[in-house]
Amino acid sequence: MPASNRAITFLEPHKMELQDKGYPKLEDPQGRKIEHAVILKIITTNICGSDLHIYNGRFAAPQGMLMGHENTGEVVEVGSHVERIKVGDVCSVPFNVSCGTCRNCRERHTEVCLNANEELGFCGAYGFNLGGWQGGQAEYMLVPWADFQLLKFPDKDQAVEKIRDLTLLSDILPTGYHGCVVARVGTGSTVYIAGAGPVGRCAAASAQLLGASCIIVGDHNEARRDLVKKAGYEVVDPSSTTPVADQIEKLLGMGSRWVDASVDCVGLECHGYGPDGSSENVEEAVINTLMEVTKPAGAMGIPGVYTNLDPGARTELNKKGYMALGFPAAWVKSPTFTAGQCPVMHYNRDLMMAILWDRMPYLTPLINTEVISLERAVEAYQIFNDGSPKKFVIDPHNMTKLMSTG
Ligand code: ZN
Repeated sequence: MPASNRAITFLEPHKMELQDKGYPKLEDPQGRKIEHAVILKIITTNICGSDLHIYNGRFAAPQGMLMGHENTGEVVEVGSHVERIKVGDVCSVPFNVSCGTCRNCRERHTEVCLNANEELGFCGAYGFNLGGWQGGQAEYMLVPWADFQLLKFPDKDQAVEKIRDLTLLSDILPTGYHGCVVARVGTGSTVYIAGAGPVGRCAAASAQLLGASCIIVGDHNEARRDLVKKAGYEVVDPSSTTPVADQIEKLLGMGSRWVDASVDCVGLECHGYGPDGSSENVEEAVINTLMEVTKPAGAMGIPGVYTNLDPGARTELNKKGYMALGFPAAWVKSPTFTAGQCPVMHYNRDLMMAILWDRMPYLTPLINTEVISLERAVEAYQIFNDGSPKKFVIDPHNMTKLMSTG
């Protein structure tokens, strides 16, 4: 057993540190022995936009928590009740923690497992103050209910070769895809995606895989918009003096002012809405835009993260856990909303197959991953938070040999 387990540890907003947190035990967050768990040696663990909510103090988290919910690794230890997963298996870990036996898991709603979060009663995630499960931005991590949860890759060498894309299966690719599926994106759909961060870019790639026609992505960040444009999608700038709805109308042509489907890949920390970003950080800006630009009887996917535990909420309403939504005006359009975490297991196997058979060749340049060491991760949080168009992937053991030396 290795003596140490260096991990990116949350101390307070804007303060993460690389600390030795000790090699994980086969124990649940309450300290009870669990034989259905395994220990993974981390191959890749990504920094996510939702980690930035914690970093910025917008999603409350306990001091000392290990960060990281986008994890891929090799099994190095298995509990005595684990039957299917073996030492040496290379697996993707869905970011939702789920037991596989409760009513919701049995109905494929692993994002609201009833056994993975004792405090709330539902909804567990690694490194996210949802159930106390520690994150994987570390050398090693614990995965409970391993037989149910882990997605095993068919071949280790192939997995390492395609790791830039496969590492996205723990969260952002299924999340972007889920946003499109629940917004009913299909052949010929016109789609508006709010946010050109890594999840928004995954949503655009997903819309393409699902056969969408006009795919429009909105972001005030020019470098991120450029990646989207290069991949052949349309872009709008929500901080422009021209309202998003007018920019969309211009792109769609034929007098059409509405898209068929829309996806919120931003969540509570939205930046640059309104002329010159004047409605900076108005939480409801994205959802209100979606309701405005989606056609009557259209659907909206809202995988962007919201919380009523936002210590940095900007308005009195937000502080109370409410938002100023233009719902009364939208009601007459018969809108459909689907919000919440993506049930990753619903999609990850199929998307793995799409990657392994090269059906998404456009993914790698669009997501723009940079593989870094654990030592560079704290700095990468800052760079990502400053709006970098990169997706940072941490490789704690240099197992992929893809690490940049910057
Ligand atoms: Zn994530």
